[in-house]
Amino acid sequence: MAVVFARRMDNLDDSDTREILKLTERPEVISFAGGLPAPELFPVEELKKVSEAVLEEGGIQALQYSTTQGYLPLRQKIAERMNSKFYTKVNHENIIITSGSQQGLDFTAKLFLNEGDIVLCESPTYLGAISAFKAYRPDLIEVPTDAYGIIPEELEKILSSKNNVKFIYVIPDFQNPTGKTWSVERRRKFMEIVNKYEIPVLEDNPYGELRYDGQIPPSIKSMDEKGLVIFLGTFSKIFCPGLRIGWVAAQKELIDKYATVKSCSDVHTSNMGQREIVKFMEMYDIEENIERIKFLYRARRDSMIKTMEEEFPKEAKFTYPEGGLFTWVELPQNINARDVLIKSLENNVAFVPGGAFYPNGGNENSFRLNFSNMSEDRITKGIKRLGRVLKEYLCN
Ligand code: PMP
Repeated sequence: MAVVFARRMDNLDDSDTREILKLTERPEVISFAGGLPAPELFPVEELKKVSEAVLEEGGIQALQYSTTQGYLPLRQKIAERMNSKFYTKVNHENIIITSGSQQGLDFTAKLFLNEGDIVLCESPTYLGAISAFKAYRPDLIEVPTDAYGIIPEELEKILSSKNNVKFIYVIPDFQNPTGKTWSVERRRKFMEIVNKYEIPVLEDNPYGELRYDGQIPPSIKSMDEKGLVIFLGTFSKIFCPGLRIGWVAAQKELIDKYATVKSCSDVHTSNMGQREIVKFMEMYDIEENIERIKFLYRARRDSMIKTMEEEFPKEAKFTYPEGGLFTWVELPQNINARDVLIKSLENNVAFVPGGAFYPNGGNENSFRLNFSNMSEDRITKGIKRLGRVLKEYLCN
């Protein structure tokens, strides 16, 4: 019997990435490749008590099927936190709980995309979003970016010449992969254009609260006057990713559509997990937990950047992330980061070559480094080694 897969699988070959990740998992390798939170900060002991309390107080309800939109007290809490952190004006009716924001990416594509429709995204953008969207076979058009975000003139050029753009996908805060944050001015200009063309925007914001310098800027969602912005949030980076709890915040009519998609997909997100987060917020202080995360990551970011400044050749340009988990390195055009990775792995250091973050390929002269997942000592040691590899490459 011939096994014939659906056409949607054609574009989803991630074997290259899996091969690289396998190599980075060798214990002797200092890997800046992943994007994992620091496990030592997971509140394991607290969650033991929280789980017990959830089961004690409402075990029957926690273990039963529940509503698709999610546990009401959690949706209320999320709306409240969003309004105070991201300057939005949402309430529980604007929120649906998802199994991580990765599910929000998949559902958005499922909801909007027919084969051949256009999605606009930053260039580069989050690899997991590229994969989620590609399953629905759209054309992904990359909008050029600079240090301040998407370039408005470039966005307008595309929107004025294409008529089947279904949505624009953006990560304005501490972008994955570049670590860059959009300026407030850019956010305003972007929304002016979006309002003019009335195109939905998917604002993906997993890192916004992990800001190590300065104030959180207004979210794109907070500037949304026409109900065009769909905001994706998650507890993965401010709490723990294993619970798989995220959310979509949007106009109520859109949330109803997401609920239809979700009920066909997995009925609802883990009822137990949702209740555990609410109970954690009742028994402990989640803001304190976030402060602890920020304290640790700020120091790791500082160690990484300081060592890069000291050890990288001057031809290697890198971003200074004010928050989040990543920095991004650009090498001269003629250097391929995949070749640098091979050399780097011989020296037991790993990173993700940047080409994977460009949906239409090219741009092989960049790479992403993660700083959340290891000690300052290991970061310094790994960056020193990487600096030697880069010097060898750039000086030959
Ligand atoms: N969006 C971006 C930009 C991310 O970096 C990630 C996780 N690395 C996600 C979405 C998905 O996060 P989760 O599903 O864990 O909420």
